[in-house]
This record gives sequence, C-alpha cells and structure tokens, in this order.
Amino acid sequence: MDNIQITLPDGSTREVPRGTTAAQIAAQIGPRLAQAALVARADGELVDLSKPLDHNVKLSILTAKDPDAVQVFRHSAAHLLAAAVLELYPDVKLGVGPPIDTGFFYEFVRPEPFTPDDLEKIEKKMHEVAERDVPNERKLIPKAEAVELYRKSNQQFKCELVEEKAVEPMVSFYTTGKFIDFCRGPHIPSTGRIKAFKLMNVAGAYWKGDEKNPQMQRIYGACFVEQKDLDDYLHKLEEAKRRDHRRLGTELDLFSIEDEAGPGLIFWHPKGAAIRRIMEDWLRNELARRGYELVYTPHIMRLDLWKTSGHAGFYSANMFGPMEVEKTDYQLKPMNCPGHVLIFKSRLRSYRELPVRLAELGTVYRYERSGVLHGLMRVRGFTQDDAHIFCMPEQIEKEMQDCIEFAWEVLRVFGFSDYVVELSAGDPAHPETYVGAPEDWKHAEDALKSTLDRMKVPYKYIPGEAAFYGPKIDVKLVDAIGRPWQLTTVQFDFNLPERFQLEYVGEDGNRHRPLMVHRALWGSVERFFGVLIEHYAGAFPAWLAPVQAAVLPLSGKFEEHARQLTEKLKAAGFRVHLDDRNEKLQAKIRDAQLQKIPYMLVLGAKEAESGTVSVRHRSKGDLGPRPVEQFIADLKAEVDSHAIQ
Ligand SMILES: [Zn+2]
Ligand SMILES: [Zn+2]
Repeated sequence: MDNIQITLPDGSTREVPRGTTAAQIAAQIGPRLAQAALVARADGELVDLSKPLDHNVKLSILTAKDPDAVQVFRHSAAHLLAAAVLELYPDVKLGVGPPIDTGFFYEFVRPEPFTPDDLEKIEKKMHEVAERDVPNERKLIPKAEAVELYRKSNQQFKCELVEEKAVEPMVSFYTTGKFIDFCRGPHIPSTGRIKAFKLMNVAGAYWKGDEKNPQMQRIYGACFVEQKDLDDYLHKLEEAKRRDHRRLGTELDLFSIEDEAGPGLIFWHPKGAAIRRIMEDWLRNELARRGYELVYTPHIMRLDLWKTSGHAGFYSANMFGPMEVEKTDYQLKPMNCPGHVLIFKSRLRSYRELPVRLAELGTVYRYERSGVLHGLMRVRGFTQDDAHIFCMPEQIEKEMQDCIEFAWEVLRVFGFSDYVVELSAGDPAHPETYVGAPEDWKHAEDALKSTLDRMKVPYKYIPGEAAFYGPKIDVKLVDAIGRPWQLTTVQFDFNLPERFQLEYVGEDGNRHRPLMVHRALWGSVERFFGVLIEHYAGAFPAWLAPVQAAVLPLSGKFEEHARQLTEKLKAAGFRVHLDDRNEKLQAKIRDAQLQKIPYMLVLGAKEAESGTVSVRHRSKGDLGPRPVEQFIADLKAEVDSHAIQ
C-alpha cells in the first residue's frame, strides 16, 4: 500500500493511504470534528475537505473558530447567492463575489435595479438551495473550453476574468447545482451549513472599480457560521443606528453642519455647547491640578514656521493652502506643536523649570477629503485637548506615568470601563528611517514599557508602527456596544526639538536639548463628544446633561409656583427647563423623555402645599414625592460624584 504521512497541529502523525481526504481524516479523529469541519489547511494553504492528499503534509482541520475558515464559509455563501439569483433571474450577468468582514457580496448586471422585494425573494431562494444541501464541487476545465462556456452563456465579465487571470492550461471551477463559477476556492463541502445570513442592501459599483466600465449591482449580505453571531451582529447594527450621533445631534439639538459654511465644520448649538463647557471646565481644572500651564496660540502663523517644523513638507497634503498677507504666506494651523515650541523658546530655560507642561484647547484645521468626512468623527476643523511636555531624560518615567494616570481619570469620569493600549515602537532593522539617536529611542521606549509594566497595564507591543519622529502609546477606549475608539495618544518627538534647536541650561551650566512629548487625551473635543453621544445614546449622566431637570406644572394654576421652583434650582447651580406650555402632563413628560432629561419634577396642588416635588427619572420612572431641599441635595451629590445612571 502506498502511504503518506499526515502531521497534525499537535505534532502527532498518522499514516494514511495516498489519496485520503481531509474530510476522512477529520472523521477518523472524531465525529464532532467531522461535523464542525469547514475547510482544511495543508502545508499552510487552504484546501477543500474533499481534496485527495497526495504527499506528506502538515494538516489542520479548520472549524468556525478559525477566521480564515469563516471567510471560506462566507465566500461559499456568496456562491449560494449567485446560484439563487440565477435560478430567479437567468439572464443576469455575473461579476465577482468575495467574502467581506461580516459577510459577502456578489456583483450582477441586470437592466432593472434589485428592489427590497427582490432581496426578500432571493433570500428565500437561498434558504431553499441551502436546504437542498447542494455540494460545492471543484472541476478543472481547459482554459479554451472555459472561455467558450462563458461566451455561450453570455457571461462576458466572467469571460474577461478567465482570459486575464487563468495562467495554467487547466482552470479551476466550482459548481453549486446548475451554477458554475470560475474560482480558485476552496469552499465548504455543501450548501447545507449556510443558515445564518441576511441580505442587507444593494449598492452600485463599477466593474473592477473603474468608472469607465459598466455599472454593476452589488448585493451585500451579512453571514456568520452560527445564528447567534448573526443575531448579535444585527443587534449591534440596530444599536449603532439608534445611537448614531448625527441623528441624535439633530434630535437633541446639540450641533449641526451647515452646507452654507462648508463640510466638516461644526456648529455647536446651545445644548451641545453647554456640554462642551462642562467638559472643558472639568479638563481645565484637572490640567491646573496636575501642573499644566494653559496657553493660547494664534490660528494662523507664517508658512516659514511650518517649513522649520517640517509640516510644510511631510504634512502638506493635510493642510489648507497658505494665504498671502503683505507678500508673506501665512498658514492656517493644522497642529498646535510649533506654537508651544515658540513659547518654550521665547526665553532661555533652566533645568529648574523643567518639566514645562504647556496645554491648550487648540483649534486646528486639516484638509480631509469630502468623501471621508463623517459627522463629528471626521471633520476639517476641530479642537484638540493638546499638551506638550518639555523635560529632561531622567524625568520621562514620571511624566509618562502622570499622562497615563490622567488618561485613566478621563476614562473613569466619562464612564468608560474598557480600553485597549498599544505601544508603537521603532523597527530595529531600519534605524535609518527614524530621526533621533538610537539610544534616545531606546531610552524612550524603555520608559514607556516600564511605566506600563509598573502600572500593570496590559498592552500590545507593535514594533515598526512608530512615526518617524518617536515611539508612542495609544489608548483606545471601548464604548457601550463594544466598539473601540482611538482617542488618547502620548507621543515622543525627537524631531521638533532638533529642528527648533530647543535648549535648556543644565545643572552643569551647559546647554542641553530637552525631550519633547505630545499628548492628547480626548484627541479632539468634537470626536470625543461624538463618542460620548453614541456611548450614552444621548442620555448623558446628570453632571453632563445640558438640561438636568424639567419642571412640569400640572396646569396654569401652578405656574407661579413652578417658576419659583425653577429659579431656586437655577440658584443652586442646576440647568433647568420650565415647561410652561399649555399641554397635558403626559405630553410634557413624553417630550422631556425624548430630550433625555434626567429628572422631571411634577408640580400640582399636593406638592405646592407640602413644599415637595414628584420626581420622575428618565429611565427609573416614578420615584415619588420628595421635599425640594432633599431633591437639591440628592442631585448635587449625583453631579459632584460624576455618577453614571
Ligand atoms: Zn468563488
Ligand atoms: Zn503636538
């Protein structure tokens, strides 16, 4: 007997007859694996479970736990889609159908657009074909025959693909029932496993992404191996839609983007601005408490300054064009760093002054293409909570720790408990791509590492990810529905101190170059605000809410009393709205709920007499009557503790 040797991932080996398939080996290992198997990896390459193995190989049987196997599964779902569409609309022309992150798409050309009704029909047909458990079979066909086959069935795009892509005389095809596709594979054995999918939408796309080519209709589907994962995904999508900061921004009257002013430029309405003021007040207090000095720098500065800093070179694609004044070019600032550098440099510094920590809520303007702009998340004008630390080498560990502790305080106070930390280091194999001395890089990276280790912060170390001017730490916070957001950055810079010839007088009386660190915690006020809106789905905790309590008199009779209560609450420092409209109480409550106001205070005869209010909370409902003084004390405690509820 002619045997081959199979080496499994655990290192064990087995002798099997030449021609044994991965499916047969899975069955030998156990029925559970045989059932869960989707595809195999032989010597690093993905192959069909049905492929006869003809030489000694390292073999893994892949299940839904393997991300590559899931992509094979999704690609098979794309074939299932094409098979279903061809059964319903035999005249469609086929493009390509790859897997994507959460599912798949397939491209079709058809004179009429696919409607939502069509999608429903197609989805039903897909389930039908899946239930028939049609095998996905691989076939090798001579290239000329393949071209002929597609020519005869009028599939000109497929014809083009075979002619372009097939390099070997025999080309690989997969059949799913009557549907036949030019495809390298591999695929899962049959359609029966594909149950958890949903067709999502149709989008236009040019053939091969070239606008000179014909328009295709792409049908997109979400697809997972397990129904539970599809349900989770769809639920998350629903949640993301419900939390969309652009929609909530309009509904809650927080901000807008005005076409007359231009894209990517944010107008903060009174309620959004109220939240921003509270955020900024908190931040300024923290900055002062932590030894930062607040500064302000101009929004336009000479272009020459940006040449000295280097931004006019490596950053010019992100800058608005310069403007000329009195024969000198001026540049709208894309960054705050050179401004802070000039303040540091404005007089000779002594080592006794270091570290110098300059902070600014600095507004910058960057040119982003209109296609990538997105609400508050990606804009052209924004305010960074920026700071630059100038220090001596022996001070960096403490400065790093202070930065990270500050970042943690931001996460805690604004209600985030989950985060991911990444340390981007230089690529030791290519020191020539970086500015600064290798020993300075090492010192900085060691300081970042030992700070994170000492603080017991888990982090991902990514060599080769650092910018050319220094290593950095990024903190991504994770929001209420599990999405990570890149906000905080602590970034070393070996470039600017050199370019601007920064110096301080050391203890030894000699001049030394200081270290420079850029750091931003929120990143940008706009983006952080967008993240907060989505994290809280617009229901801000009381300390941030633009309106903390709505006073709702039962009728006009209690208006005077309601006005007095409102004044009293305002005098106690709260943001209060008196709803004195001639509306029913139910309507007033509904509107306050829609505005996500934390507390509603109902005033009627009973309350007016006894000096109480009937308290209603937006999510906890009716909390019953409470003396006014008690409500004031409770709300004050809630606000002062930055409570999240
Ligand atoms: Zn394919
Ligand atoms: Zn900077």
